[in-house]
Amino acid sequence: MAQHKKTPLIGIMGGTFDPIHFGHLRTALELKQILGLEGVRLVPCKDPVHKDQTFGSAMDRLGMLHLAIANTPGLDVDDTEIRRHTPSYTIDTLESTRDTLPEASLCLIMGSDSFESLPTWKRWQHLLDLAHIIVVMRPGHTFSPSTEIKQLLVERQLADPQGLRELTSGYIYLQAISALDISATTIRNQIATGYDPRFLLPNSVLDYINEHQLYLTGSPDKTTI
Ligand code: ATP
Repeated sequence: MAQHKKTPLIGIMGGTFDPIHFGHLRTALELKQILGLEGVRLVPCKDPVHKDQTFGSAMDRLGMLHLAIANTPGLDVDDTEIRRHTPSYTIDTLESTRDTLPEASLCLIMGSDSFESLPTWKRWQHLLDLAHIIVVMRPGHTFSPSTEIKQLLVERQLADPQGLRELTSGYIYLQAISALDISATTIRNQIATGYDPRFLLPNSVLDYINEHQLYLTGSPDKTTI
């Protein structure tokens, strides 16, 4: 009898991770557990295309990601965008991931703030040709989708996450997770003003920040890699 092979579900979460914090980490871990993802790849961008600048260098942000996910099975760091010599466009990352994983259901993970901005992304209408999109409501952010996003939800929103394994791309699924109102901006501001951001991010990441004296002035780190 032919054995039915379960389509693997792979999460992909992009960001500046400047620095990575528990809002990112809980999102990745909870989605992995709730949706049964085989793994979640955290993809730090090199030069963000939707933000003015980063404050930590690409190598520092990458180093902090490795420390944050150490010993967490199923969470991985993907340095594709940092190694690429072009701006960090998600569509390019999805295309290269799709080349290596033609049979998998790819799940692009993002907060509601990022999802709202989707129409500003490069070739945004093609993202769903390559992956599903999993959206988590970000606390502290009021979700007010544009007409384009509302229409996209009408066409693509999935009610039952089982459907994520039926097609390898094309659906949008909204998943409730623990609401942690943490942002990298808050952490950077706390450090710059002498507050202790402990318990908003892993101790290993905070130790790295202190050791490398990151985020003290709020000015961008010009280190190139
Ligand atoms: P910054 O404050 O510098 O803008 P950030 O905290 O928003 O940074 P990013 O690296 O820009 O972090 O976010 C990467 C992804 O993680 C985005 O899709 C964002 O919506 C999501 N995200 C960030 N923080 C949270 C959070 N606390 N809960 C859920 N999702 C989050």
